[in-house]
Amino acid sequence: MSRLVLILGDQLSEDIAALAKADKASDVVVMAEVRDEGTYVRHHPKKIAVVLAAMRKFAKRLRDAGWTVDYTTLDDPDNAGSIVGELLRRAEERGASEVIATEPGEWRLIDKLRYAPLKVQICDDDRFVASHAMFQGWAEGRKALRMEYFYREMRRKTGFLMDGDDPAGGQWNFDHDNRKPAPDDIKTPGPMTFEPDQTTRAVLDLVASEFGDHFGDLEPFDFATDRAGALQALAHFVEHALPCFGDYQDAMLDGEPYLYHAVLSPYINIGLLSPREVCQAVQDAYDAGDVPINAAEGFIRQIIGWREYVRGIYFLEGRDYTDRNVLGHSRDLPDLYWGAETKMRCLRQAVAQTKARAYAHHIQRLMVTGNFALLAGVDPAQVHEWYLAVYADAFEWVEAPNTVGMSQFADGGVIASKPYVSSGAYINRMSDHCKQCSYKVTKKTGEGACPFNLLYWDFLTRHRERFENNPRMGNMYRTWDRMDEDRRKAVLSDAKRFLKRLDAGEVV
Ligand code: FAD
Repeated sequence: MSRLVLILGDQLSEDIAALAKADKASDVVVMAEVRDEGTYVRHHPKKIAVVLAAMRKFAKRLRDAGWTVDYTTLDDPDNAGSIVGELLRRAEERGASEVIATEPGEWRLIDKLRYAPLKVQICDDDRFVASHAMFQGWAEGRKALRMEYFYREMRRKTGFLMDGDDPAGGQWNFDHDNRKPAPDDIKTPGPMTFEPDQTTRAVLDLVASEFGDHFGDLEPFDFATDRAGALQALAHFVEHALPCFGDYQDAMLDGEPYLYHAVLSPYINIGLLSPREVCQAVQDAYDAGDVPINAAEGFIRQIIGWREYVRGIYFLEGRDYTDRNVLGHSRDLPDLYWGAETKMRCLRQAVAQTKARAYAHHIQRLMVTGNFALLAGVDPAQVHEWYLAVYADAFEWVEAPNTVGMSQFADGGVIASKPYVSSGAYINRMSDHCKQCSYKVTKKTGEGACPFNLLYWDFLTRHRERFENNPRMGNMYRTWDRMDEDRRKAVLSDAKRFLKRLDAGEVV
């Protein structure tokens, strides 16, 4: 009797565990475009289009390779609307009673498969460098789970950027070289772009009619949607952007959405590229003398360090991770996150770019949209839902730890040793937004003062008990205490007034 082999939209790798376990001669691959997955959060239309177009092309590759594939399109009248519904329908049609699946990257779907009225064998997703067992072993007995130490283990395990037992270049981490603001006249290459072919065009029409009311612009659409395109995008990045990736990693410029970032996360996360091959391409460029160590190390750290680490945390911390809210924040996500007018230039740019491209780079996510939500005390569950919806690369295993943990400190410091908060000064140092902003970043109180300046002190004051003894934050409290009392009072009352206006839906 045949078995069903489930392939989800972010499992588009030919060596995925479920396929490796299956028998091409007798088993049937099941792939399904289902409404449940497109709407459990209102995903950006570009994100839905990337996934559906890539699924259709992957199904064709599997068929060409000799697999039998039962593929359900979104508009199929028999579509059951959910993954488990489709498995049950196909099981009945094929007379199958067993399913082989690769572990989904989300507790929600893992539980649906676990409790499905079918026998489902869930294989480990071995596309990652660290298995769950390895991460648990590393975490066991440690007081703090800091990424840096995990990353060193990953360097040793993979051999990337190693000279024998020592790190290449004599240091594990070159982050201190990677904080340069970008010059205004910079010329950046941007990611490789792709014209939609016939398959992608059909998906774009479908997405426009089914999900056209979700936040985000579907067109122009220029993502790669197959492995060949993703490999081209990787080669383009390594040749044109990687050499400067390190230097300007934390920079932001008004009209430069990508700077020297890779824009490879959607491809890696859905399986078109493997993390190991991406790192190998960077290692090769370093070995050839084409890129400096701070670029190669900075990039490889993001992949075998941060990417693996956040996945480890997501699975280690368990199902309730996305509900955490240790700071007790409860403000509703302001409308400006959905494109409502704002006078704050940095936020306006980050949100407009997110709407247009389903992309923002790390510092925009962490130090602009994330920073503002944290300072303003927004409910982290709503922040999490926003990030999961609006980015083309957003899948819960990677999005949730970055949002709930790193960006909102809602996990109480599992990931971050202190909250990522800053006043306007940081944004001013790392970007050119403030020059064009209606607010004045140098103004600390009164009419026209940068809201980040007000909210920064308001946040620290509200959470003084929790943070004043944090060794990395003591300085901030000492600075606050040294300010004269009238100024402190003015800052706090201006912050209160600002938040009131924000809540009232005024343009701030
Ligand atoms: P680059 O800056 O060029 O980095 C190269 C690669 O490293 C990325 O493609 C990505 O695969 C990996 N990487 C870098 N930083 C991280 C990180 N912190 N965690 C995991 N991988 C990382 N990344 C996602 O892939 N999906 C998400 O849903 C996501 N949500 C985020 C939410 C918040 C609040 C924050 C602060 C970060 C989030 N990130 C997420 C991490 C990071 O911002 C993106 O991986 C990165 O911006 C993707 O763009 P890029 O390919 O140009 O990355």
